[in-house]
Amino acid sequence: MRYFPVFLDLEQRTVIVIGEAEPAAARVRLLAKTPANVVVYCDEPNALLREATRAAGGRMLYGFPDDADLAKAALVYLATASVETVRGLGTRCRALGIPVNAVDDRASSNFLSAAIVDRNPVVVAISSSGTAPVLARRIKNLLEDLLDTNLGELAQLAAALRPRVRRALDFPARRRFWTKFFDGDAARLLRRLSFDTVRRHYHGKLGGARAKDDGIVPDKPATVSLVGAGPGDPELLTLKARRAIDQADVVLSDRLTDPRVLDLVRRDALLIEVGKRAGGQSWRQDAINDLMVEHALKGADVVRLKCGDPMIFGRADEELDALERAGIRYEIIPGVTAAAAAAAGMGRSLTRRARNSSLTVMTAHDAEGLAEHEWRTFAQGRSVAAIYMGVGAARFVQGRLLLHGASPALPVCVVENAARHGERIIDATVGDMTEMLTDHAIASPAIIFIGLKSRRRAAEQERETATRASHALAALPA
Ligand code: SAH
Repeated sequence: MRYFPVFLDLEQRTVIVIGEAEPAAARVRLLAKTPANVVVYCDEPNALLREATRAAGGRMLYGFPDDADLAKAALVYLATASVETVRGLGTRCRALGIPVNAVDDRASSNFLSAAIVDRNPVVVAISSSGTAPVLARRIKNLLEDLLDTNLGELAQLAAALRPRVRRALDFPARRRFWTKFFDGDAARLLRRLSFDTVRRHYHGKLGGARAKDDGIVPDKPATVSLVGAGPGDPELLTLKARRAIDQADVVLSDRLTDPRVLDLVRRDALLIEVGKRAGGQSWRQDAINDLMVEHALKGADVVRLKCGDPMIFGRADEELDALERAGIRYEIIPGVTAAAAAAAGMGRSLTRRARNSSLTVMTAHDAEGLAEHEWRTFAQGRSVAAIYMGVGAARFVQGRLLLHGASPALPVCVVENAARHGERIIDATVGDMTEMLTDHAIASPAIIFIGLKSRRRAAEQERETATRASHALAALPA
């Protein structure tokens, strides 16, 4: 091991960076995470470096450091494009015994920088001793995926609890406590509750009468996660959603949740489909609320899984109200909503300068039946409407639009099964939208856009216009 890993205390220390552009700015940005006084030497800094130095609270000086300046530095980074400067300063630093790193010049360096996984205060540094930086980065990426993003909080919590644990527990119990703590109990709590709440929880338990016994893990407070399952493709789940599903004891799922997402639920977890079938038998909202509360109060990790985003046409407020009434804590994990997934499929952005500067997310059904809207806005193509649960009401929507003066040629695009198996994208117009839905036997789940066409359709129309123009030209007398 020629290069020896150590962790250097940069409290009240100076770090010198010499450079003019991005390589120097990258070092400065990294140093901004430390308490070091950053001093950048540079004659002509570019904007990136100036911004990075300002953000790091560093100083920028012209010219080069002399030996006295160098001697005061804890570290020196040579990140300049000037080879002579690197060689000269590298030699001087090494002669003075100052740790110096020259970007891309191992011969002028006496320390190497590492690929870092930062879960402060837990820090993992990886190095291939300069042999294979790409390999080091790959290891970093693997670890980034492996280590919880709240690992740093976990370490801070451990630090905050350590004195109390020492007082409350003797040795074997203490070890068992920390094993359980790091095995996942504390991380699970931190994911759902604030740092202070979890700390108070452990404090209460450790200070209480039972402190000497082994049941040190606090009684888990009841919690429910409202999780966005996204449109279908499990790769569109957020990392948070994935983790909540992995850990759930009970999953209450919508009818529309993709089977591939449900496959991620643990085998020994209880999976209940509480979805409403269009027209068919359906769960009453009260019954869903009760089920959620009941399992949470039993101490289960409950996930309420909703397709797309839980806060869009998901009756989330009603469920949150029920949880609040029962005194149950909750977290909400957003998901990719159907309109976003459909737009990706259409290759067409939902808003565009000078085309439509607003997007209306709406449903054709509400509690009273068919829903009324500002039809004129959509009829005139001033806003794009993304209609959820609209297939059954297509004729009503078409009628309303025409009544409010829509041109029958106004584009309509229907995306069925966005980001699910069997995705279909059908372009139509207000004039023929209902026939199109019937001809293509469009079924739920599908989303209807008014005032928007797919990229493919737009390109086809452009080609048609060009062809017509050239025919018209050809028809002109010579
Ligand atoms: N919370 C969901 C919407 C629930 S309402 C979300 O944010 O996406 C149910 C309606 O959403 C369906 O009737 C359909 O209009 C739409 N929808 C849900 N998933 C869809 C998908 N994969 N493709 C197209 N539409 C979808």
